[in-house]
Amino acid sequence: MEEVVIIGAGPCGLSAALELQKLGFDPLIIEKHSIAHSIYLYPTYMQFFSTPDLLEIGGIPFTTPNEKPSRLEALHYYRNAALRSSVRIQSYHGVETITRQEKGSFELMLSNRFGATSVIEARYVIVATGYFDYPNLLGIPGEQSSKVSHYYREAHPYSGTKVAIIGGSNSAIDAAMDLLRAGAHVTIVYRGEGYSPSIKPWVRPIFESMVNKGRITMLFRSQIVQIDDRTITVRSAEAEHILDNDFVLALTGFRPDRGLLLSAGVAMDPISTAPVHNPATMETAVPGLFIAGVAASGSDANEVFIETGRLHGGMIAQRIAEARL
Ligand code: NAP
Repeated sequence: MEEVVIIGAGPCGLSAALELQKLGFDPLIIEKHSIAHSIYLYPTYMQFFSTPDLLEIGGIPFTTPNEKPSRLEALHYYRNAALRSSVRIQSYHGVETITRQEKGSFELMLSNRFGATSVIEARYVIVATGYFDYPNLLGIPGEQSSKVSHYYREAHPYSGTKVAIIGGSNSAIDAAMDLLRAGAHVTIVYRGEGYSPSIKPWVRPIFESMVNKGRITMLFRSQIVQIDDRTITVRSAEAEHILDNDFVLALTGFRPDRGLLLSAGVAMDPISTAPVHNPATMETAVPGLFIAGVAASGSDANEVFIETGRLHGGMIAQRIAEARL
């Protein structure tokens, strides 16, 4: 039987592993993809908003000559943190269910890429599954079309094309400015009344000036209600318009999946929708089952991010060490 199993090898899961190692544990991480898969999926040339010190885990220095690290530097950092610490990672295995047994331990059902299943037993389980696998869907006709993506990687394929971006937060704004540089014709379709307060303050003036100069079209109080091969239908309070369109980037944010926690009997707070847990230890109401990182967030999935979620590991490790005494 494993003593501690961590589900998810993102920054918060890795942080928990390193903190546990410091206290003498040898945790096993189960990861559906590879290390830091969410960061791998970020826009290729993305620069973090956070300074490197705020992304560090396990006390390992994150050094870069740049003020803010790039996606590539972050991948390098987290990969090396995992490799150098020799933390055990079973990658390309998804955890399907967590079942608490009468004796107090947990049975985890795993499946690999080829559909083969296996079972692991663990005394303690930490769920650090992030949220990047589950974009907020729109539920409109055409959303499943191949011209629609909920992820933005890089601008080059969109050069010279008409791109509609749905959403008005940082991903939408960053992608719009990047696409403009590559010669795409960008229209942002945003449901908000005006610019979102979540746009980073140093980005907003640059973006607003691009809109004011007519280089990016910004439609407020608007929603795309239908996506067709060559067009989109945009509805505002005043009217409905059909616009020529080649690609749609639905950058509408993400939400954590609750399936695993529900399978283990974790209750969700009816108001915040967050898993019920003790914020001092990150232990859920199911003894021995912990949450780390964005898995702990409620309806605002952005309330936890790497800067804050990486701190959960220390609290969890402390609690498990005390319970073991
Ligand atoms: P987000 O902040 O959650 O924003 C999602 C956007 O989509 C919001 O403008 C939201 O509208 C809109 N939206 C959500 N559901 C919708 C629906 N059903 N129909 C129409 N619009 C919908 O997501 P994000 O921009 O991907 O950012 C996620 C996190 O990553 C944030 O914490 C952000 O700061 C961070 N980020 C960091 C970087 C970086 O470090 N360089 C870059 C990009 C993003 P409302 O505004 O009305 O809610």
